[in-house]
Amino acid sequence: MSNLPNPAPACDPSRRQFIAQTGRGLLAVGVAGTLGNLPAAAAPITDQAADLVLQSGPTDVKLPEINAKTEPKGTSIPNPQPVDQRVGYAVVGLGHLTLEELLPALSQCKKSKLVALVSGDADKMSKVARQYGISPQNCYSYQTYDNLKDNPAVDVIYIVLPNSMHAEYTIRGARAGKHILCEKPMANTAKECEQMIEACQKAGKKLMIAYRIQYEPMNRKVQEMVRSNAFGKTKIIEATNTQNQGPPDQWRHKKALAGGGALPDIGLYCLNTVRFLLGEEPAEVAAHMYSTPNDPRFKEIEENMLFTLRFPSGVLANCVTGYGSYTSKRYRVQAETGWIQMDPAFSYHGLKLEQAHAPDGNEQKAQINLGEKNQFALEMDHFSDCVKNNKTPYTPGEEGLQDQRIMEALYQSARNGGKPVKLKNETAKLDAFRGTPPTEGQS
Ligand code: NAD
Repeated sequence: MSNLPNPAPACDPSRRQFIAQTGRGLLAVGVAGTLGNLPAAAAPITDQAADLVLQSGPTDVKLPEINAKTEPKGTSIPNPQPVDQRVGYAVVGLGHLTLEELLPALSQCKKSKLVALVSGDADKMSKVARQYGISPQNCYSYQTYDNLKDNPAVDVIYIVLPNSMHAEYTIRGARAGKHILCEKPMANTAKECEQMIEACQKAGKKLMIAYRIQYEPMNRKVQEMVRSNAFGKTKIIEATNTQNQGPPDQWRHKKALAGGGALPDIGLYCLNTVRFLLGEEPAEVAAHMYSTPNDPRFKEIEENMLFTLRFPSGVLANCVTGYGSYTSKRYRVQAETGWIQMDPAFSYHGLKLEQAHAPDGNEQKAQINLGEKNQFALEMDHFSDCVKNNKTPYTPGEEGLQDQRIMEALYQSARNGGKPVKLKNETAKLDAFRGTPPTEGQS
C-alpha cells in the first residue's frame, strides 16, 4: 500500500510542508508562470513556492491544447473558487428539485457550496447528509431551523418547500441573519411577497427568486436578439408550458399549499420569460381557465389556463399552460422579418434555439448551439456573487412580487369570463424590477 499523505486542515503549519512534498503537479500547472517558465515537470518545489500557493490561493489551472484551432472547442476547465472562499448554502426541503437537480448542481458551482440541510424527515436527511458529506451538526429540522443563526458556515438559505411555506421560511431565515434564495413562485399572495421583501430589507439581507431561465445562456441569447431587433420589431410571442400531472394527493393539487394549479407552477415560466425577453411590463391581461369535471386532481386548482398579455409597445403574448396534457415547454418570438424559437425552452436539459428568416428571399433556418450549462449552478453562483460583492440579484424579490400581482390579475380575469384587467404599477422603465445582470455562464 502506498503511503498517502494525510493533509492537515487549512492554516495548519504542516500544510506548507504537505504542499512542498506533494504539490509538484499543482505548482507545475498553476504557478509555472511565476517560476520563470521552467518545464512543468522540472519546476523545483521550494518553500517559497509553497508559501506562494498558501498566500495568494491557487490560480486558475491551465492545460496545453490537444486539438488544432480549427476543431470545435472542447470543454474548458471549470476552475472553481477555492472551497474556503465559496458562499455556504443551507438547502431547506429535500424533495424532487433538491435531490434531483440542486444538490448535484452545487457540485458544479464555482462560487457556492453545500454546507447544511434542513428537512422534516430525519432518516432521509441522514442518508443525504452522508452522500454529500454534511456533518450531523449541520443538519436541522423545521423546529431547529432558527438555530441556523448560530452557524457561521451558512451564508445563504435556499428555500425549496411547497409554495405556501416560502413566506414563513424566508422571513424566519432573514431573521436568522441569512441571505435568502427562494424557489418560484415566490409565495401564494402578493401580500406575502411584500412581507418577505420587507423582512429581508429589515434584516439587511439579500433576497433572490430562483428564476433559472433568466440565467440560462440560450434564453439570454434570445433576450439579446429581441432587444437588439435582430429580425425587426417583435410583434407576438407565443409561449406554452404543459405537463400531465400524476397522483391527486400531492401538494401541488391542494390550493392551500400550492396557491393555484398550472398557472403558478408552470404557467409562471411563460409569464416570467415573456417579461424577461421584452423587459417591459404588461399594461393589460386577460385569461380563461378550465378544469375537467370530476378529475380528482383538479378539485381545488385549475387544470388549464390560456392568457394574453398586452405590452405598452404593442407586443401581444399568447400563453398556454395546462396540468392535464403531454409535456410541451416552448416559445416562439414572431418578429417583422423572422422568428426565434426555443423548443424546449423551460426544461432542465436539452434546450434548443432556432431561428428563421429570408434575407435574400430564400428562407434560412438555423440552430444556434451555445452548449449546455447547468442552469441551477449558474443561478446559485449569480446569487453568491451578489452576496460577496454586495450587488442586487438580477431576479430580486420585487421580480417575484410583480409576477404574483400579474397572476392575481389573471385569476381575476378568468373568474370574470375573460374580461381584461388593466394593471396598476405601469412603468415605462425597462427591467424595472431586475437588478445586476448575471455574468456567469458567459465564458
Ligand atoms: P417536492 O414535493 O418534491 O418537495 C417538497 C419538499 O417539501 C419535500 O421534501 C417535503 O417533504 C417537504 N414538505 C415540507 N412540508 C410539507 C408539506 N406540508 N407538504 C408537502 N411537502 C412538505 O416538491 P419540489 O418539486 O421539490 O418543489 C419544491 C419547490 O420548488 C416548489 O416551490 C416548486 O414550485 C419549486 N420548483 C422549482 C423548479 C424550478 O425549475 N425552478 C422545479 C421544481 C420545483
